[in-house]
Amino acid sequence: LVSRKKHPENTIVEVKGERIGDGKQYFVMGPCAVESYEQVAAVAEAVKKQGLKLLRGGAYKPRTSPYDFQGLGVEGLKILKRIADEFDLAVISEIVTPADIEIALDYIDVIQIGARNMQNFELLKAAGQVNKPILLKRGLAATIEEFINAAEYIMSQGNGQIILCERGIRTYERATRNTLDISAVPILKKETHLPVFVDVTHSTGRRDLLIPCAKAALAIGADGVMAEVHPDPAVALSDSAQQMDIAQFNEFMEEVRAFQRQM
Ligand code: PEP
Ligand code: MN
Repeated sequence: LVSRKKHPENTIVEVKGERIGDGKQYFVMGPCAVESYEQVAAVAEAVKKQGLKLLRGGAYKPRTSPYDFQGLGVEGLKILKRIADEFDLAVISEIVTPADIEIALDYIDVIQIGARNMQNFELLKAAGQVNKPILLKRGLAATIEEFINAAEYIMSQGNGQIILCERGIRTYERATRNTLDISAVPILKKETHLPVFVDVTHSTGRRDLLIPCAKAALAIGADGVMAEVHPDPAVALSDSAQQMDIAQFNEFMEEVRAFQRQM
């Protein structure tokens, strides 16, 4: 169902009036985790000032260690809903268990399925049964074929509103947190009819690489770029080393937009 061969036209994913996959390139910015209303509002204000529409933030955080901050859960989803209404933004947030898919419908605009759950088939099936766009991230060690099959799981249940997101894969290279597989973008665009985003934060894990990698993503034809922004990364409860602060975010947008104008 996701194959370009069967369905040559691009799928357009509609999110609060935005048409993702229709040529315009989007930016999904926001903190790694929702920590408080004030924290998300500070980022939402900056996102709004940049004229952007899509805000991210995790309420359920699948952390490597069980002793790390696990997210605010439903409380976090409620904060996102309030922010979305107050700032007229669309919010994207990760859901990690099939039982929470229903709950998410009331609070968020796009359900994210994270890298660690790309092959959680029950979660994929549950995501396929709702009428809500899904942002599906590539697994840490998933081949492109496995990634496409994960999207097929969702679509086979009836939900065709899927955005694919390349977020780096695990290789022997340690200079970056993961290795950004930039050629996955044109391959996914060729093999499927779905919009493709690139998460420059989790693929690199390095603030100094966000701008060049975002430029590469846009140049190679990605439909959107995701990156993490926190009002004070030094005190962030997760991914503190890789999130941009507001000033860095503004600089990022300026540089990347200047690049887009030359494309
Ligand atoms: C995230 O986007 O918050 C996240 C945890 O990313 P990933 O699933 O790609 O690691
Ligand atoms: Mn993160």
